[in-house]
Amino acid sequence: MSKLVNVAILGATGAVGTELLELLDSRNFPIASLKLLSSPRSAGTTLTFKGEKIKVEAVEATSFKGVDLVLASAGGSTSKAWAKTIVDSGAVMVDNSSAFRMNPDVPLIVPEINPEAAANHQGIIANPNCTTILLAVAIYPLHQFQPIKRIVVATYQSASGAGARAMEEVKIQSQAILNGEAPQAEILPYPLAFNLFPHNSPLTDTGYCEEEMKMVNETRKIFNEPTLKVTATCVRVPVLRAHSEAINLEFGKPFPVAKAREIIAQAPGVQLLEDWQQNYFPMPIDASGKDDVLVGRIRQDISHPCGLELWLCGDQIRKGAALNAVQIAELLMDKDWLKPTKTKEITV
Ligand code: NAP
Repeated sequence: MSKLVNVAILGATGAVGTELLELLDSRNFPIASLKLLSSPRSAGTTLTFKGEKIKVEAVEATSFKGVDLVLASAGGSTSKAWAKTIVDSGAVMVDNSSAFRMNPDVPLIVPEINPEAAANHQGIIANPNCTTILLAVAIYPLHQFQPIKRIVVATYQSASGAGARAMEEVKIQSQAILNGEAPQAEILPYPLAFNLFPHNSPLTDTGYCEEEMKMVNETRKIFNEPTLKVTATCVRVPVLRAHSEAINLEFGKPFPVAKAREIIAQAPGVQLLEDWQQNYFPMPIDASGKDDVLVGRIRQDISHPCGLELWLCGDQIRKGAALNAVQIAELLMDKDWLKPTKTKEITV
């Protein structure tokens, strides 16, 4: 990665945006210039990058002039609103929102799994949903050894998955409850402190919420397995940071537990963490701030001869969002894929 690039972070002041800033610094991403963009709410505030204060600007039509790479983390409607301007200005957008993930002309990339799919982008590359990335990076190496027939997953998703303000809200709610007051909910639909509730994304016709359907559809797209059986139940839990997942995998034949441990222990982006003597397995506090997805409690499913049970915790702001996006950007740099091989316009 010798070339220097002009980078913009759209949504720089958010939970994912501030993590992107930290990762670009700590991973020494080759930056010529860095623009920090937000809504008018945060315009004029400053963020620090490599010891220097940079003023946050409100995004506008001229923001992307001369920019090579846009790391977008400002929500789906903002990505949709600016995608054409970004691509027309000659930049490539790595998008953290769900806006383009299922668009057949937009690669959906987890660099440990399908890096080659990023080669033919049309100016937009999508970062998968956070719970999907954590699941996919942990189980894909098992799928390569012996194909998975069915995935049953239940998630335990932290407040920060709903953004920086949701995380603050849970802290305020916790304080209120400890003071004997009623907790107020404004960002999330219900009080999350000392509580939990099924994921608050809109419900679909199937009875599954959108977050659950993202896990189904995005896993299929990343694995390039359009008919893979996946079912998910997503739940918000009063954890500040890092998501957890209980995963049941069904294979076509028995999968030796020892082999699964061996594979997970060597898999990229994954760390095997289990101490059966001490009954110690991954927890969100272990995963917070870490790049690797922590996997443990790998055991035979006693209800099915071809089933495996797994537990994981992963920092959804890091590998579930910002780190995966920066890894995609590094991949584009390494392979010289930063310029789109543009043959068609992405429909917004
Ligand atoms: P967040 O903490 O709420 O931050 C949102 C960011 O977007 C802020 O910088 C905000 O700027 C900016 N923004 C909002 N509306 C805007 C507009 N109209 N124009 C320009 N900028 C605007 O949210 P987040 O958690 O970082 O999530 C960002 C995106 O990443 C979302 O699409 C989310 O689904 C996705 N994502 C999040 C996670 C996670 O764990 N949090 C994981 C995976 C993917 P202001 O400061 O001016 O409001």
